Amino acid sequence: MKYDVVVVGAGPAGCVTARFAAENGAKVLIIERRSEVGVPVLCGEGISRKIDEWDMLEGDRWIAGRMDGARIYSPDGTMVKLSADLAGNETGYVVYRDIFDQELARRAVKAGVKIMMNTMAIGLLKDNDKITGVKAKQFDEEVDIEADLVVGTDGVESKIGQWAGIETRLNPKDLETCAQYTLTNVECTDAYCDFYLGREIAPGGYIWVFPKGKDTANVGIGILASLSESGMAKQLLDRFIANDPRFKNSEPIRFLAGAAPVANPVETVRDNLILVGDAARHVDAITGGGLTCCLEGGKIAGETIGKAVEEQDFSKEMLSAYETGWKEAFGKKLKRNYLVKEIMLDFDDKTLNMLADSLKDYKFEGISTLRLIKALVLKHPTLLMKLRHLMKVSKEAKE
Ligand SMILES: Cc1cc2nc3c(=O)[nH]c(=O)nc-3n(C[C@H](O)[C@H](O)[C@H](O)COP(=O)(O)OP(=O)(O)OC[C@H]3O[C@@H](n4cnc5c(N)ncnc54)[C@H](O)[C@@H]3O)c2cc1C
Repeated sequence: MKYDVVVVGAGPAGCVTARFAAENGAKVLIIERRSEVGVPVLCGEGISRKIDEWDMLEGDRWIAGRMDGARIYSPDGTMVKLSADLAGNETGYVVYRDIFDQELARRAVKAGVKIMMNTMAIGLLKDNDKITGVKAKQFDEEVDIEADLVVGTDGVESKIGQWAGIETRLNPKDLETCAQYTLTNVECTDAYCDFYLGREIAPGGYIWVFPKGKDTANVGIGILASLSESGMAKQLLDRFIANDPRFKNSEPIRFLAGAAPVANPVETVRDNLILVGDAARHVDAITGGGLTCCLEGGKIAGETIGKAVEEQDFSKEMLSAYETGWKEAFGKKLKRNYLVKEIMLDFDDKTLNMLADSLKDYKFEGISTLRLIKALVLKHPTLLMKLRHLMKVSKEAKE
């Protein structure tokens, strides 16, 4: 088996990278260890409407609901509202993640991409030190897949980077442990995504309630692994659900447990290798959301791969256009939000209540972590000093 590109993982990052690589002339194979793309769903299924700008998905089968805004609740119940009347297009969707992923896969296949399901990468093929493809297992059979370029889109548990010598291991303080129920027969009256903060509620993270169509909602929790013990995420979530009258008559129709990286991005290119999506740690460290980066980063990666195939040059220098591209598109945001996450870890419940109180009447003109940070800094300039200090320290540490 010989391809220009083998992509490991048919999640959003893999499908989008593969599609744009194929549209730009590459012969691409995706291998996927699961037996169905997008299943089981491991996601809160919230995404910004920014994706409308990128022509990634056709039709609206993947949309479970269009959101009118977001509400953030501090531990004492003070609410900060970011609403659609002011935010215009900057609100979000709640999606059906299985259909969402399958739509992205369909677009990739339409562009000429081949997919092998039930096929798990178990190592890299190398000629001396040069990466020449992937060793995989399909059911019980081992297969060697030769390729000029390997793309690691194998998610939070990514091995591809490690096999290539990139440090991708996650420190517990950079990993969110998550649990989520999809509950039905809930009493959610409007199309708002709700977020609940607090040390007691969700240490180092938050609880979310995302309405998903009629009477149904994703109710989930993410807590920092360094601040939690085994089973704690589910216990805290169960307590929250038991105490909220909206869920009094509800029953679960799905339960999931998973993890999200809330780390700084890793090195994303080597000779004959690219990492995209969660595998690259391209996740907003404040929210744990990674879908927009998968789509935006995947497109940049795919276009870079097209040029590499055209010039038959798979060197790190050639592929670095991808690293430059994602840094321009969302690198600054990831770096800033990682530092804000670090600052927020020091906030006790009293501070969170005070911050929420200072923002409760603020008129947000958009819904994004940046708008929220800007408003916080406006009200509390010392936060900016802290952020600047951390940026300086992290720059010095890198140098
Ligand atoms: C509970 C939870 C809630 C979340 N909620 C949100 C949200 O609301 N909004 C948001 O934007 N983000 C959310 N995220 C994060 C989001 O799900 C990820 O950022 C996104 O799925 C990353 O996409 P990906 O393509 O990089 O990886 P994945 O979607 O994880 O896809 C990786 C694929 O690679 C396959 N794979 C792995 N190893 C191998 C191998 N060795 N061989 C072959 N295949 C392999 C896997 O089976 C999988 O299909 C959430 C995460 C969790 C855990």
